[in-house]
Amino acid sequence: MIVFDLDDTLYKEFTYVDSGIRAVAADAEEAGIMPASKAYDLVKNAPDTASGFDRLAAIALESETYELFDIQRMLAVYRYHIPEITLPLESRQLLDSLKTAGITLGLITDGRSLSQRAKIRTLELDTYIPSENILISGEIGSDKHWPTAYELMMKRNPSEKSFTYIGDNPDKDFYWPNKLGWKTVMLRDTDCVNIHPQRLSEIPGSQYEAQYTIDSLSDLLDIPGVRCDD
Ligand SMILES: [Mg+2]
Repeated sequence: MIVFDLDDTLYKEFTYVDSGIRAVAADAEEAGIMPASKAYDLVKNAPDTASGFDRLAAIALESETYELFDIQRMLAVYRYHIPEITLPLESRQLLDSLKTAGITLGLITDGRSLSQRAKIRTLELDTYIPSENILISGEIGSDKHWPTAYELMMKRNPSEKSFTYIGDNPDKDFYWPNKLGWKTVMLRDTDCVNIHPQRLSEIPGSQYEAQYTIDSLSDLLDIPGVRCDD
């Protein structure tokens, strides 16, 4: 079976971040802080999103609005907004062909339940991946620094002969599946836009590296034994 990471593997996470900033900016306008377009520019022009939210909170504090517009409110809006993100054509084509080929699919992703569920729903990934094979750290209580999710996937799919994990983050995506005998594949961040930069020189050892590296999701099917069990 083939198990995917979500963020920066099946779609680019910066599009989610941008969508979240738009939601916060719209909320700033609603709270009477400033027009949404101005709030959006303010956050986007900050060195990073967190400091952009800090700037917005500081302005809100000085404004004469009676509504509380603080970091907590911004984070809640950001985390629970309905994201405006799309599944890239390449991802859709790959998932379509895997589904047609009858290959069992899974998803292991780290994050809050509500945020990850909103992404999964918007990207319609639940049309490709059975619900019992969608594992979210916020729901199972364990992230990819632990073997739990990978072990659970194996337990739930006992008839599968091989497991492949495809992700983007060498800090945590491949260590445990490597140890558990999975095939591991890293999708290279060819445009250098990933939220977690791929710093292979900084990882502690080769056990953190994926066995295969691809530049494009469509290359996944060229890896020996991924399409068919060997
Ligand atoms: Mg990722």
